[in-house]
Amino acid sequence: MHIDTRIARFSPAPGDPHGSTSTPIYQTATFAQESALGFGEFDYSRSGNPTRQALEDKLADLEGGPFGFAFASGMAAISNLMRSAFADGTHYPGRGSLIVGADLYGGTTRLIERLVAPLGVGVRSVDTTDLDAVREALAATRTDPTWILLESPSNPLLRISDISAVADLAHEHGARLAVDNTALSPYLQNPLALGADVVVHSATKHLGGHGDLTAGVLVTRDPDLAETIGFLKNAEGTALGPFDSWLLMRGIKTLGVRLAQESCNAQRVAQFLQAHPAVRTVHYPGLASHPGHDLLARQARGPGQLLSFETRSPKLSQQICEATELFTIAVSFGSTGSTIGMPCRMSHASVPDQAIQAGRVAELPGDLVRLSIGLENPDDLIEDLGQAMRRRPLGSVGQPNRAHPICSESQGTFVGPIR
Ligand code: PLP
Repeated sequence: MHIDTRIARFSPAPGDPHGSTSTPIYQTATFAQESALGFGEFDYSRSGNPTRQALEDKLADLEGGPFGFAFASGMAAISNLMRSAFADGTHYPGRGSLIVGADLYGGTTRLIERLVAPLGVGVRSVDTTDLDAVREALAATRTDPTWILLESPSNPLLRISDISAVADLAHEHGARLAVDNTALSPYLQNPLALGADVVVHSATKHLGGHGDLTAGVLVTRDPDLAETIGFLKNAEGTALGPFDSWLLMRGIKTLGVRLAQESCNAQRVAQFLQAHPAVRTVHYPGLASHPGHDLLARQARGPGQLLSFETRSPKLSQQICEATELFTIAVSFGSTGSTIGMPCRMSHASVPDQAIQAGRVAELPGDLVRLSIGLENPDDLIEDLGQAMRRRPLGSVGQPNRAHPICSESQGTFVGPIR
């Protein structure tokens, strides 16, 4: 069955007595038992809930599971994966090797630098678009288990890694591969079918699609890994609640039409930017000039709606962000409305300085602007970007006058200094 059909079709929770065509929200913490010793299918919503179960079955189906897990956020999913990947008999990390793409979401780098590496896992970052570098990193690992974690396309530089080739290299070395598929979603790419062992999503982005929830996803084919993931999800209480599970299912139903239209819009915007004299480089794998264009065409069904560009001037980039009228300045992406941001100062500002100084992560260009293209008419988006770029001179561009939220994504901490 085509992916569009699979996305659109949901079975309501099994056993629903009323034939609901939409899965009911089982907004309950616990379930009555028949007797003190007689447990039904569900007993407590942290452990299992019919609404979340329907969602997890759907996620597994879309990514080619069979084991799907829904978490309270993408970071909760990645944290669970790290613990599950390096679990020893006590289910806590303490040994092993992790090879990460040099260009990962800032919060993932923060988690790995501050929480995974200090527990004793040897972390090495490589440019996973370079297969020789991956081969060398695998050969240099000292302790097992060994995992590779990459994003393709990466966020925010939109680099494309050869998922099948990296999976083959990993498996030759007895290692395993996790792919963060947030940027494309299962509508456009299925890493498990390309050989990955686990797929990760920030479902806050395309899967939810409306900017109204945070959620995370893991899908795997490996029953042993699935058992550990499930154990930790219950033990640590990181599962997605029933109402958010329902919201996420509702979002998924329109994933195909949203991403198809948004990708067309993004292609138009990327072409406009590429021809604009104020723009130095456009990072969008839908452009024939992108180094990963042909590879992406082989392993995915489209380039998606995320793109970034450089202007040669951080001041101009800031000015563009602040002068657009249709783009909301925001850290996230994948919602129906277009957003704009400077990853260096926003979504990726949480990358620890020491990781950048030690060369463990790619330093992002200070003038990089990231666009998440939504469902607006592309002509309006292009006109808006055009007027924002025309507003000069730059000398008057000051600091953003927006108040800092108490706990921001970029600070990642309560009222602390940025980074
Ligand atoms: N993975 C990627 C590629 C992301 O962009 C993000 C968040 O922006 C995450 C994971 C983390 O997801 P969440 O914000 O839902 O915790």
